Amino acid sequence: MSLMRNYKIAIVGAGPAGYYAAQALQNSQNEEISISIDMFEKLPTPWGLVRSGVAPDHPKIKSVAKVFDKIASEDKFRLFANVQLGKDIDLDELKANYDAVVIAIGSSVGKKLGIPGEELIGSISSSEFVPWYNGHPDFADLEVPLDSQTAVVIGAGNVAMDVARSLGLDPAEFEKTDMATYAISALQKSKIRDVHICARRAPEHAAFTAPEIRELPHFEKTSIVIDPNHISSALKRTESLGDQAKDINTILTAMLAIAEEEKPKQERSINFHFLLTPIEIKGEKRVEEVVFKVNEVIDGKVVATDQTISIKCGLVITAIGYNTPVIDGLEIEDGKVKNINGRVANGVYVVGWAKRGPSGVIGTNKSDSTEVMQTLIADLSEAKNSSDFEAVLMQRGIKYVNQQDWGKINDAEVAAGEQLGKPRLKITSREEMLNLL
Ligand code: NAP
Repeated sequence: MSLMRNYKIAIVGAGPAGYYAAQALQNSQNEEISISIDMFEKLPTPWGLVRSGVAPDHPKIKSVAKVFDKIASEDKFRLFANVQLGKDIDLDELKANYDAVVIAIGSSVGKKLGIPGEELIGSISSSEFVPWYNGHPDFADLEVPLDSQTAVVIGAGNVAMDVARSLGLDPAEFEKTDMATYAISALQKSKIRDVHICARRAPEHAAFTAPEIRELPHFEKTSIVIDPNHISSALKRTESLGDQAKDINTILTAMLAIAEEEKPKQERSINFHFLLTPIEIKGEKRVEEVVFKVNEVIDGKVVATDQTISIKCGLVITAIGYNTPVIDGLEIEDGKVKNINGRVANGVYVVGWAKRGPSGVIGTNKSDSTEVMQTLIADLSEAKNSSDFEAVLMQRGIKYVNQQDWGKINDAEVAAGEQLGKPRLKITSREEMLNLL
C-alpha cells in the first residue's frame, strides 16, 4: 500500500505572493506527500502587481515573471484565471474541496485621506491610476484629467514616485515600455508640466528607496526640485542616530546631491515637498487646489504649526497605501485579512499584502510565503477525498483561462509588442483576451 498522501491546495490570487506560496508547496513534496495546486485569479491574466503595479519604466523588476512561469510549468499546477472569489466561487466551497486554501489577493483598495473634497473629479487614488496606466481591464476607462499645468501626488513612498514619473517625465520615456497605449497617448496630450510630491513628514521619514531617488537626475527633460535646506536639516537631525540611520542617510545624501546640482531649468518638473499634511481639496466641480497644514519637527516629532499653504492643481493622486478588498467569509482587520502568522482559520491561510499589509518589494513575498506554507504543511492531516473542482467551474459555465490559454494571450501580446520594439503590447479588455482563446 502506498504511503503517499496526495493533497490538493487552492491558492487564490496569481500575484507574487501566490506564486511563491506555490513554489514553497512544490518544494515541500517528498516521498510522503504530494501536492496538487489550483491557482485562481480574477483577471484573465496572472502575475498580479508584476503586470498591473510595477512601473512600465522598470522592466527589470518584471523579469521575475520567468520564475512564475517556471512554477506554473511544474506538474500538478493548474491555473484557473478569470475566476473571481466572492463572485464565481466562494470560500466555503474551496474549503470543502481542498485540503487547504491560501488567500493571496493583495490589497487593491486605495486608502482614503478622509478629508473634504476627496470625492471631487480629478482626485484619484494610486489604486486606480497605476492600474490605469498599466492596462488593467477594470481601469481602462478611468477618466484622468490631464488638462491642467499642475498635479499633486500625496505620499512619499515608491508608488508616489512611480506616479510622479509617469506624470512628470517626457512621455517618450514610456514609448518603448509596456504602458497601455491609451495611457501613452493620453500622456502625450497631457498639459501637466509640474508635479508636486507632498510628504506629511520630514525627508528622513520618507519611504522612497535609494534607487528610485538616484534615477531621477538621469531624466534630462525634467527638472527635479528639492529644497537643500530641508535635506541638510534632516541630515543634522539624523547625525546623532549613527549606524541606525545608515539607510536613511544614503537616501538623504542622494536627495542632497540632486538638490544642490545646478542644471538648466526644464519645461517639466517634479518637486518634492515635506512636512505638509493635506487637510482639504478645494474646487467647484473638480479639483482646483489642495490645502495643507504645515508641520515642523520638534525633538524628533512631527507636529503641526498653525500655518497652511495651498497648491493650485487640476489633478491630485493619493499614493498613501492600500487595503485588502472585503470578501465574504474573510474578516478584515486594519486593512488586512485577520490572521496570526498567516493562519486565518482551520485550513485557511493568507500570504502577501493581504497578510502583512502593503509593504516590501516583490522578493519579500518569497520568505513570507515560504514561512506560511511551512505552517500549512505542518497543519495538514488526512488528505480529503474530494472531487475535481474543475467540474464545478465547467458546470457553472465559467469561462476560465488555463495556463495554455494564458500562453496564447501572452504570445499575442509579446508578438504585437515586438513589432513596435516594446516588451509587449498589452490587451486591455477582458473580452478581447477571451476572444483569442
Ligand atoms: P508606502 O511605502 O507605505 O508609502 C506610503 C506613503 O503614504 C508614506 O509616505 C506615508 O506617510 C504616506 N501616507 C499614508 N497615509 C497618509 C495620509 N493620510 N496623508 C498623507 N500621507 C500619508 O506605500 P507605497 O508607496 O504604496 O508602496 C507600497 C510598497 O510597495 C512599499 O513597500 C514600496 O516600497 C513597494 N514598492 C516598491 C517599488 C519598487 O521597488 N520600485 C515600487 C512601488 C512600490 P507616513 O510615512 O507619514 O505614514
